[in-house]
Amino acid sequence: MRIPVYYSSYADKNGTHETNREIVQMSERRILLVEDEKDIADLVALHLRDLCDEVVIARDGYEGMRLATTAEWALIVLDLRLPGPDGLEICRTVRRERSYQPILMLTSKSSELDRVLGLETGADDYLTKPFSVLELVARVRAIFRRIRNMQRNPDPESTADTAIQAGDLIIDPKRREVMLGPRQIELTAREFDLLDYFARNPGHVFRRADLLDSVWGYGHEGYEHTVNSHINRLRAKIETNPSKPEMIVTVWGVGYKFAAESKPAHMASTT
Ligand code: CA
Repeated sequence: MRIPVYYSSYADKNGTHETNREIVQMSERRILLVEDEKDIADLVALHLRDLCDEVVIARDGYEGMRLATTAEWALIVLDLRLPGPDGLEICRTVRRERSYQPILMLTSKSSELDRVLGLETGADDYLTKPFSVLELVARVRAIFRRIRNMQRNPDPESTADTAIQAGDLIIDPKRREVMLGPRQIELTAREFDLLDYFARNPGHVFRRADLLDSVWGYGHEGYEHTVNSHINRLRAKIETNPSKPEMIVTVWGVGYKFAAESKPAHMASTT
């Protein structure tokens, strides 16, 4: 049996085309869109091109897997159901290699959400089809806004780039690394932002809607369960006993707070 050959298309903003083999160097703002439904892919790519330098479309899971793992991307927009490796498989593979890779997952059924939000997947955000293009654009803008904020030279008065310590946890925003004792913890981009935000505001009780606004960066009404699932994943990674969390604790009827004390970490003072 012949395996069908799929082609991914690539065009930069000047409309010139190159072969996929040439797409290996990193660019500031390149989006990989893995979507087998041509109409959706074309429509989404049309709008994403306004937000970035390049959009590369992979039209099946094989091409998606290859491109996702051989180049770096500002964002990967990943359809769940694909010919070949599906979106979850691609997401897991990418995460093993680069935990810090923004991934936006597209699902066709809300019943698939549980899998997307599952502990092992690690997508930063998701949209359920049919979604409005405006909503997609808003999500992508928010992701890029976060990246820009991270890259912008910090205000000298600001302590936002200072590493902080809470118990055995050291959070280093410059390297976007988290150590738990001697062990480095792999967090997704969103998990890192969430933990960093909590640790910089110890004792403060946040409602889920506050966290959506501050960490996700845009109005997300109705997505409060996203916060829960990210917090559960974070707890699984940083808490000694995730079912009895001591760092990020639930404040019943309100939301969450960071219960550990945090202070500036002295990274060089290891003896
Ligand atoms: Ca599909």
